[in-house]
Amino acid sequence: MRIAVIGAGIVGLATAWRAAARGASVALVDPEPAGGATSVAAGMLAPLGELAYGEEDLLRLGLASRDRYPAFVAELEDETGLSAGFLDTGSLQVAFDADDLAHLDDLRRFQESLGLPAEALTGREARKLEPLLAPGVRGGLLAPRDGSVDPRRLAPALLAAAERHGARLVRRRAAEVVVTGGAATGVKLDDGTVLAADRVLLAAGPWSGGVGGLPPGAVPPVRPVKGQVVRLRTRVPFLNRTVRGLVRGSSVYLVPRADGEVVVGATQEELGFDTRVTAGGVWELLRDARELVPGVTELEFTEATAGLRPGSPDNAPLMGPSAVPGLVLGTGHYRNGVLLAPVSADVLASALLDGTVPEVGRPFLPERFGVRA
Ligand SMILES: Cc1cc2nc3c(=O)[nH]c(=O)nc-3n(C[C@H](O)[C@H](O)[C@H](O)COP(=O)(O)OP(=O)(O)OC[C@H]3O[C@@H](n4cnc5c(N)ncnc54)[C@H](O)[C@@H]3O)c2cc1C
Repeated sequence: MRIAVIGAGIVGLATAWRAAARGASVALVDPEPAGGATSVAAGMLAPLGELAYGEEDLLRLGLASRDRYPAFVAELEDETGLSAGFLDTGSLQVAFDADDLAHLDDLRRFQESLGLPAEALTGREARKLEPLLAPGVRGGLLAPRDGSVDPRRLAPALLAAAERHGARLVRRRAAEVVVTGGAATGVKLDDGTVLAADRVLLAAGPWSGGVGGLPPGAVPPVRPVKGQVVRLRTRVPFLNRTVRGLVRGSSVYLVPRADGEVVVGATQEELGFDTRVTAGGVWELLRDARELVPGVTELEFTEATAGLRPGSPDNAPLMGPSAVPGLVLGTGHYRNGVLLAPVSADVLASALLDGTVPEVGRPFLPERFGVRA
């Protein structure tokens, strides 16, 4: 089966790997592979950290994906010899004042109501785990099974693995999905070339709605949600795990990597396709990070970037068949695309190759928005 994948972000790459490994002939179309949110993301694997009421299906998907991560990374590293920068050292959410503590307590109760263990810590216990935490930290919630990955390492490893299985990278922009007799039959590139395909996967992140050729009912309802992050570097031991916190109601996190990088994120802004880094964005991130971990100002500043999360109307991904036979959607992963990569790849490879969506993916069928087959 010939599969054309539009978009080589984390979702397109992971799916291309899985589909190519199952014997499909895969063409990955992207002018700048892993150039979207994948190149900016912090890479937290924290399904509980981003938890909100009413998002239980998304939580289940996140947990399923997190559970797949160790084997996913081991298989990838084994096949390619490349590191994905995977750490399974957990995450710690901390609180400063009575409001933050009440919020953590709510979170703990919610997790327990779902049968998930949550470890509440006093300020002293939290500082014992992370000695550089601010003295004002009054409590914490430990998620020992959380982790992180470096998306800037994971993406090239996925591309190498997909190529090992015969996938081909086409460095061009997809102008439109070619629809013949009502079904998707390929992809037209920006130079006019047509790639014929039996199935097309639209996985162009927040740009997915802008790829031409689709009838209105098939266009995925995704929008860009801007996020700015700052990258720092340390040569001495800093944090042992991801630290998150609410500072005056706005959330901030610090994600340490084994190579000494520390990613501080992230802003959340509805500004369309705007990827400018602003002085205010950087200032707020560093100001809030310093409240959590005062020593952060001693680190070397290496980079500030902005990316666009593919947001959907219910914050959850769209995965599965669309209104056009042969066209599968894999977009809308919003804040969790890195976390959700392993499970999404399995769901989407099955939708493309078997024509079925496994149980774990069924709450995320595009048809819930009327984008239906
Ligand atoms: C600041 C920030 C922090 C984040 N932190 C985390 C985190 O800690 N954990 C987590 O799980 N998630 C995180 N995310 C979210 C995560 O990055 C996204 O959910 C994920 O990258 C979405 O993957 P994607 O492949 O759908 O899209 P993208 O990564 O955006 O990739 C889309 C790809 O499509 C390509 N493309 C666009 N148009 C076309 C076209 N016409 N033809 C061909 N190719 C095209 C682009 O070049 C790009 O390579 C974060 C996001 C941001 C912005």
